[in-house]
Amino acid sequence: MTEYWEPVPKVVDPGPYPGMVPPPSDAIVLFDGTDLSEWRSRDGSDAKWRVEDGVFTVVKGTGDISTRREFGDYQLHIEWRIPENITGESQARGNSGLMLQDLSHLQPAYWYEVQILDSYNNPTYVNGQAGSIYKQNPPLVNAMRPPGEWNVYDVIYTAPRFNEDGSLFTPARVTVFHNGVLVQNNFEIQGHTAYIGLPKYFQAHGKAPITLQDHGDPSEPISFRNIWVREL
Ligand code: MG
Repeated sequence: MTEYWEPVPKVVDPGPYPGMVPPPSDAIVLFDGTDLSEWRSRDGSDAKWRVEDGVFTVVKGTGDISTRREFGDYQLHIEWRIPENITGESQARGNSGLMLQDLSHLQPAYWYEVQILDSYNNPTYVNGQAGSIYKQNPPLVNAMRPPGEWNVYDVIYTAPRFNEDGSLFTPARVTVFHNGVLVQNNFEIQGHTAYIGLPKYFQAHGKAPITLQDHGDPSEPISFRNIWVREL
């Protein structure tokens, strides 16, 4: 979908990182600091990103990683950090992505993506900055912490529903908090992540993996930790 640069979401200081929120008792823990056993590469082999000191870091060129489990409606907590020495600008600065449901085995780019990017003093098209629904909707505000500090997304996701004939019944919806600040308020996702053209619900689907993106830009790789999900 078309990139647009204005209006620029207001910058909101979310305050310092409050410390790690432990997973509630009914959560499925997708990363507890030890290993990537809940994750796989796109070809099904073990995830090749690097685990060290309780965090994991993208290994550029090894590809996206997806959960081995599939999810429908859920609440998700994920923490991510842009490295302090980050370089690059616009989309080539700490780019990754949180694919809320990944159907790319059905159609190319058939996923719904919350953008992950260094949006601290880094202008880009607003429907592509951190907290945006990529190429669809900018965040309500920019609540980004500076490079080197942890950012947190808390996401409430409602999967799309389909009619018997495969047509769309109700679109997916998503609410996102970035560092505790509301950035997507029950946004109706318009379809897949269309880099060019209009988003679309290609076909009916059920549960699907959650994916983290290995973006092809040359900037320093970003890290993740404390990922858990509650099925709704
Ligand atoms: Mg991205």
